[in-house]
Amino acid sequence: MSARILIVEDEEPLALLLRYNLEAEGYEVQTVDRGDDADTRLREETPDLVVLDWMLPGLSGIELCRRLRTRPETKTLPIIMLTARGEESERIRGLATGADDYVVKPFSVPELIARVRALLRRSSPGRVADVLSYGDIELDREKKRVSRAGREVPLGPTEFKLLEFLMERPGRVFSREQLLDGVWGSEVYIDERTVDVHVGRLRKALNRGREIDPIRTVRGAGYALDDRFGRSAA
Ligand code: CA
Repeated sequence: MSARILIVEDEEPLALLLRYNLEAEGYEVQTVDRGDDADTRLREETPDLVVLDWMLPGLSGIELCRRLRTRPETKTLPIIMLTARGEESERIRGLATGADDYVVKPFSVPELIARVRALLRRSSPGRVADVLSYGDIELDREKKRVSRAGREVPLGPTEFKLLEFLMERPGRVFSREQLLDGVWGSEVYIDERTVDVHVGRLRKALNRGREIDPIRTVRGAGYALDDRFGRSAA
């Protein structure tokens, strides 16, 4: 499963930029623009990491961080605090309040992504394996590359995400609707037949000649990575 990240940031362009880039890295991202709303959301479900702005309407990032640390469910939740330049002394307060890391605005997106990855790796090493492998297929998340039996498999971004999603949960059958949610995101309206088109493209790219088709079509249900394939080719 890909890691879930909650971004709490009231500057909408920044929140969108972070969301876009973190989703491109394969994370599941939600955004909230108020501290009090984030507090409510975090009582309902706990993500794998929070990117938390310092200055927020409703409830400050500092206060929210302090509250999260007092609750058992979020005591060890990885938190990266975003602070504005010139708040250096405040930053120390931020860490004292319990944030794991902080990034000073303005920051570069790759820098934040690197911090996110590092923090997730420390907190849950299994969640961010850089290379997934299944049977003779290897998928490198960092390099955005896929190979089969050593041969490079060129994939479009959607096919890549689709394969990544399936490889994270081999053997499990997903309906077209679940694949749409997982790969395209639940807020996008796309016809379910689009899934078939992209599965078709993924198959075409993966399978050459007599190679075994790793994707199983389950009539009336959806698609899965064939677990027999994982066993036979491994
Ligand atoms: Ca702010």
